[in-house]
Amino acid sequence: MILTVTMNPSVDMMYAMDKLELDTVNRVSDVLKSAGGKGLNVTRVAHQLGSKVVATGLVGGTVGAYIEKDLNQSGINHRFSQIASESRNCLALIHEGHQTEVLEKGPTISKEEATSFLELYRDLLKQANVVTISGSLPQGLPVDFYVLLVSEAEEAGKRVLLDSSGQSLEAVLKSQSKPYMIKPNTEELEALMGVSIQTDDELKVILRDSLFEGIPLIVVSMGADGAFVKYNEIFYRVKIPKITVVNPVGSGDSTVAGMAVAISEGKDILECLKLAMTAGMLNTMEAKTGFVNPDKVDEYLDKIEVIEI
Ligand code: ATP
Repeated sequence: MILTVTMNPSVDMMYAMDKLELDTVNRVSDVLKSAGGKGLNVTRVAHQLGSKVVATGLVGGTVGAYIEKDLNQSGINHRFSQIASESRNCLALIHEGHQTEVLEKGPTISKEEATSFLELYRDLLKQANVVTISGSLPQGLPVDFYVLLVSEAEEAGKRVLLDSSGQSLEAVLKSQSKPYMIKPNTEELEALMGVSIQTDDELKVILRDSLFEGIPLIVVSMGADGAFVKYNEIFYRVKIPKITVVNPVGSGDSTVAGMAVAISEGKDILECLKLAMTAGMLNTMEAKTGFVNPDKVDEYLDKIEVIEI
């Protein structure tokens, strides 16, 4: 099964309104409420693609209970570690062609809560063949917490797909623990390396940097332009067809989900890349974030071109 890790999940509320007026009361009737956080998007999409998934991470309070209930209603298995404080709410206001987001930082995790989670994680690792780790760390956990998760998974012989950015990603890259895959988008890669990247040759030089040594698969996702990939010593450009985009948010998470599903089914690298891109594209075609229509997978798989460069 696929084990997905979401350390700071949320209840995501989307309010669709004609106009957002400041300094007065705004009333909304169009409300969408769901379990969110990057890792839970991965979870939902992997489940929709037909894989056996277990979601783990930290939840607390009534918001945490809502997250578990939402997953139950979707028939998704989960085993979270309970914390004393409330999990967070995140708010997206859709108004006048804009999306204004208000994101709670979330709870602060104690040492004891971190230790309890690690015990649960070690136990869940036994049944997993692929582990996905997504998103940011909640307050209270050390910046190298993902190093620990990756090294535990490595020791247990499980492949880790890591989709994080900033300090927590940097900590893993600078450590001896190596995930099987990372999936930065272009902006995240540029921020990490402190450069602006224009050409394929520049990308090749960057991805050969010693920071990425020991990571077999690097997927640089590029929105409508598909992806640039380093797999061991081979580089690929992945081209995708033009599609009508409804909501692109969560496409990166869906890409990770597609990859996790393909790896857990033992597919080869070309098939893995095709399913990863297809899942990302299918997510953009739906209004809901982290949501795909599995009936369309076969149609789009064949339209993706993976070219060695
Ligand atoms: P997010 O942070 O919203 O989850 P991301 O920046 O991590 O996304 P992207 O590179 O935007 O990830 O998208 C991942 C994949 O989803 C792309 O490689 C592509 O397959 C698909 N995708 C995203 N946006 C588009 C688009 N506009 N048209 C077609 N496919 C898209």
